[in-house]
Amino acid sequence: MACAEDGCTRPAAVRVFDPRGSDRDVCVSHARSLAQREGVVASPIEGADAEWP
Ligand SMILES: [Zn+2]
Repeated sequence: MACAEDGCTRPAAVRVFDPRGSDRDVCVSHARSLAQREGVVASPIEGADAEWP
């Protein structure tokens, strides 16, 4: 499964729960930046092949 962000082809490793948008699965890099926003919760996807945090 690929990252849900436009134009990103890295593997999704983290699910983000975004109060201002839809919940989605993203790569570690995108999860790091999304998690800076207030209210956003990031949680690792079980079995994903990448490291978080
Ligand atoms: Zn990404």
